Amino acid sequence: MTRFNVVDLIERKRDGGRLRDDEIGWLIASYTSGEVTDYQMAAMTMAVFIRGLDPDELADWTGAMLHSGEVLDLAGIPLPKIDKHSTGGVGDKVSIPLAPIVAACGVAVPMMSGRGLGHTGGTLDKLETIPGYTTQLDPDRFGSVLAECGLVLAGQSETLVPADRKLYALRDASGTVPSIPLIASSIMSKKLAEDLDGLVLDVKVGSGAFMADLAGARTLAETMVGIGQSHQVPITALITDMDQPLGRMVGNANEIAESIEVLSGGGPSDLVEITMALAAEMLTLAGIDDAEARSAEALSSGRALQYLGRVIEAQGGDPRVTEDLSLLPQPPETFELSAPRSGHVHCCDARTIGVTAMRLGAGRTRKEDEIDPAVGIEIHAKVGDVVEEGQPLATVAARTSRQWEEHRPDLLGAWTIADQPAEQRTLIHERIG
Ligand code: URA
Repeated sequence: MTRFNVVDLIERKRDGGRLRDDEIGWLIASYTSGEVTDYQMAAMTMAVFIRGLDPDELADWTGAMLHSGEVLDLAGIPLPKIDKHSTGGVGDKVSIPLAPIVAACGVAVPMMSGRGLGHTGGTLDKLETIPGYTTQLDPDRFGSVLAECGLVLAGQSETLVPADRKLYALRDASGTVPSIPLIASSIMSKKLAEDLDGLVLDVKVGSGAFMADLAGARTLAETMVGIGQSHQVPITALITDMDQPLGRMVGNANEIAESIEVLSGGGPSDLVEITMALAAEMLTLAGIDDAEARSAEALSSGRALQYLGRVIEAQGGDPRVTEDLSLLPQPPETFELSAPRSGHVHCCDARTIGVTAMRLGAGRTRKEDEIDPAVGIEIHAKVGDVVEEGQPLATVAARTSRQWEEHRPDLLGAWTIADQPAEQRTLIHERIG
């Protein structure tokens, strides 16, 4: 590979110039190997943050990240392979009911998920609350669970996209996380490494999301759809609401319980609606007709719940949790947050609730923190609901009453209650792709 002078490349990007394919390939490979240093790459990511990448640069940057490590080979699986990725939110446990519904309709779902980040939850942390369940599978085992069960719900293997592991930590420490080209290439390089036939994106917008406004979420969605086109992978994106948490549970074990409720035919309507909309998009990408009716049947017949039990067992977990939620870690102590006045709920702020859950121990403030699987928040009043003074807004599972007292005032600030009726929120804002 031709070598380049990294300072020349940084200066060119800093001054608004563009980088060529061979230069980007060398830069990412040399950063992964350690030849380009963290401080040089930090300067480059800041230049990209400010100047952006054009569509060709972005496709090349994503391709270079994708080829920084191993790429899965799932050609031996004779079904269409479709995944879903969410840009992250509060109470977003959709992957857990969604993957079994789609698998039960004859689509292979190779789902590689992440851990919680800041106030947002992570599917891996939730799954690991199931007794015995492991999310660490090597690429061979990942493929064999997929072949055996029709789905796999695991973490990213160490060998896939090592450039992103280094780059993400660097961005986190250098103020360059919220950059559309850097977010889009980070997500898409990991998804393209899964050898997919199609991908559905759930791009969250609102206070609990990376993108607070619709214009930003739309640009991120269009950017990722464009990267998919350059790599010949069809992508559909839904832009969905994250101003208030999704469903009623925020935490880890309680979110698994709520996911099992959905697969048992219950669950909160917003969670069910988004899950079924994403399932229909995934089946459509797989070329399956009557996507909505097929996914509804997989759910109502109980087949999707059986698929979840099967994958839990294949990944070392206790499948009886699908019938007995008391096998999950149980709340240590619970406390009620009461409505300070009567009225209509206008706001149930996702970020405040996510931050409180994180501080209670459901998330991490530092990468190396252990999470507490049993703490969390159950929400009783969401936007549009009418509450009476003293009625519970939420039930909080905390370790100690001291911890609860410390976080109670902040949590209460999540709710706005007023005299006039609130407008209902739109759940699915747009579809792109
Ligand atoms: N998720 C990722 O995987 N990468 C980002 O940069 C942001 C969210």
